[in-house]
Amino acid sequence: MKLSQYFLPILKEVPAEANIISHQLMLRCGMIKQTTAGIYSWLPLGFKVLKKIEEIVHDEQIKAGHIPMLMPTIQPAELWQESGRYDDYGKEMLRINDRQDRNYLYGPTNEELITDIFRSNVSSYKDLPLTLYHIQWKFRDELRPRFGVMRGREFYMKDGYNFDLNEKEAIDAYNRHFVSYLRTFNRMGLKAIPMKAETGPIGGNYSHEFLVLANTGESTVYFDKTLLDMDTGQGKLDYYQNTDIKKVVESFTTPYARTEDTHDANIFLEVPEERRIESKAIEVGQIFYFGTKYSEPMNAYVVNPDGQRVPVHMGSHGIGVSRLVGAIIEASHDERGIIWPEPVSPFFAGLINLNHRDEECLRVCDKVYEELGTNGIEILYDDTNERPGAKFAKMDLIGLPWQIVVGPKGVAEGKIELVYRSTGEATLLPLEEVIKKISTAYKALVKD
Ligand code: ATP
Ligand code: MG
Repeated sequence: MKLSQYFLPILKEVPAEANIISHQLMLRCGMIKQTTAGIYSWLPLGFKVLKKIEEIVHDEQIKAGHIPMLMPTIQPAELWQESGRYDDYGKEMLRINDRQDRNYLYGPTNEELITDIFRSNVSSYKDLPLTLYHIQWKFRDELRPRFGVMRGREFYMKDGYNFDLNEKEAIDAYNRHFVSYLRTFNRMGLKAIPMKAETGPIGGNYSHEFLVLANTGESTVYFDKTLLDMDTGQGKLDYYQNTDIKKVVESFTTPYARTEDTHDANIFLEVPEERRIESKAIEVGQIFYFGTKYSEPMNAYVVNPDGQRVPVHMGSHGIGVSRLVGAIIEASHDERGIIWPEPVSPFFAGLINLNHRDEECLRVCDKVYEELGTNGIEILYDDTNERPGAKFAKMDLIGLPWQIVVGPKGVAEGKIELVYRSTGEATLLPLEEVIKKISTAYKALVKD
């Protein structure tokens, strides 16, 4: 993409309404524009990041055997009256009437809708286990929408629902979600720690939240430091080897890790003092097992192997796709701007032409742009006539992992500069070398 043909409305000033860094940077980079309180338009750069995150979420869901679909945003009130949540959910639910004065709502979550789909189509244990999910806009009329996309009223969420014959199988499904969530966040360059949590309006008896440490986070968490050094590894996982998956979950749930709602100061004291951490954190996902809370009132039953009709066991699982854009920036930035982890970066590299009047510079830039482009690598080419200083500042602000800098001095020696945004490390290299380095880094990323 050539910058001269793109839409990247960079703001010079830090917008007054934004008081955390991710919100400020998203506005300054022209990623989003607020439409009204807690509702945002995603401008081209922000939209690209949102889609990158969404793709990773899909990919890891599908690896775990979950099936993508799409449900509408508008739901009929009757379904929520069946589960009893129409009255319980309170003012956060946006209620809508149509011209016939029928009651609808803009979905804050989809347990009722999916249970209705399930009961209309499944009646035997033979169709289980089943996990369906979608990624769709949600609306919650938050009392205090703030921090930009981190606490919006309209937000983009992955929500998945598992259907199982009994508690044991539903816990296997819970565990698959647990592990796939760890891998999902890890792929975005985030360290998300699973913590024992309360269930809130979703209900149920078993829940974990996944939290990213950040001093701007709204949650307070207490955990054992050893969790910071743990990950699920990179190797292939068979999500249906239930004992193996359970072992991974156990290893992550053995060390103390709780949100303020479930925190127990006395148990926490059993963790050696040097490993006790209290921190602020951002919730990026949550998983629930709630048994038959929806299937019983909504009559979602299956026939079990003994021929009896039993209510199906369910859980639900959410990832804040739009919130993640902010959370990743909170976790990865410096005083000059964003530092995108490669897998979610809107473009893989930026190309800066330091002298747009110099024939040689133009020729070299075109060559880099074409060659990398034909390999499928997305490049943002700053071909504008701005001053070099302004171009550098803009590239640093939008935080693409790699910067390729083409200037007359280097070009005269047959060289261009390659800068790694996160460390600032810069090397002057022959053009072919730069193309090779970028291509190799990109291949390594795609292989993941
Ligand atoms: P919170 O405690 O932050 O209000 P929640 O626990 O009510 O969130 P869930 O029902 O668990 O939210 O929704 C799943 C995920 O959706 C959350 O983990 C979070 O990442 C995201 N999410 C929830 N509310 C919002 C919001 N208002 N804006 C952006 N993302 C949100
Ligand atoms: Mg939650």
